[in-house]
Amino acid sequence: MTERAPTPESLNLPPDWRIAVLTGAGISAESGIPTYRGKDGLWTTGSRDYRPQDLATLRAFQAMPRDIWHWYFYRRCGCLKARPNAGHAALADLARRLGPDRFTLVTQNVDGLHLRSGIDPDAMIEIHGSLHRMRCTLPCGPEHFPLGDDQVLADRTEPLTDDAWSRLKCPRCGAMARPHVLWFDECYDENLYRSETALDRVANAHLLLVVGTSGATTLPLMMVRTALRRNLAVIEVNPEASAFTPAVRAHDRGVWLEENASTCLPRLAQALAPVAEKRPATPSRAVRP
Ligand SMILES: [Zn+2]
Repeated sequence: MTERAPTPESLNLPPDWRIAVLTGAGISAESGIPTYRGKDGLWTTGSRDYRPQDLATLRAFQAMPRDIWHWYFYRRCGCLKARPNAGHAALADLARRLGPDRFTLVTQNVDGLHLRSGIDPDAMIEIHGSLHRMRCTLPCGPEHFPLGDDQVLADRTEPLTDDAWSRLKCPRCGAMARPHVLWFDECYDENLYRSETALDRVANAHLLLVVGTSGATTLPLMMVRTALRRNLAVIEVNPEASAFTPAVRAHDRGVWLEENASTCLPRLAQALAPVAEKRPATPSRAVRP
């Protein structure tokens, strides 16, 4: 770390400070998650090549649902092969030490690596959904349901079988199911993705930690703006400057740690909430409804 890891004292945080963490593609890239941008991301259906930005849309799904599911099965396979890294583990540890009243993770990633690192699901908001879940295409409810570990495709030349296709149904009403992900031509939604809750958690935190996100989507941008406007302490962990970096550096309470998540976060988590200071669990913390 080029600078000493910030501590609650150096950040001037109150006792029982609360943290909101925002993570983006950078932390998953360190686990080898393919970005699906560039040539490898091209997907051929019929005689046409599609880019991910064309496929990850409601419009494409409505025109060719089976082809879109086929592509998502292939993407799931890449994510399931990847393993959470030390950055994911450090955030899961920090969440455990602070508890869900003091820690909220908001992630843009749909790969499921945070959950697989053992983070408390109550402490996490997946604002862009998850590749590993599906929901109804009809307005029959906001619930989403897990896909099975066998609903993947290792070989992109393999077709989606009739059996696999027939299982992609809403468990409540039997209508066609869709991936539970926010597509490029869709808007944030509190009922589906808890986007308002994510903003509230930032507004009620004392520290915002931004990890590996480029700042290209609107809700993350609003989260950082909210933190700056409310004069929260803001730490950005990113080996490269992002759209947020100039504002973070200009902020009196801003710190940019120019480093990878997997090397920076274990030390940062220890500096913020040392293991030795772990509080004994009380019944009200240990037992949640
Ligand atoms: Zn349904």
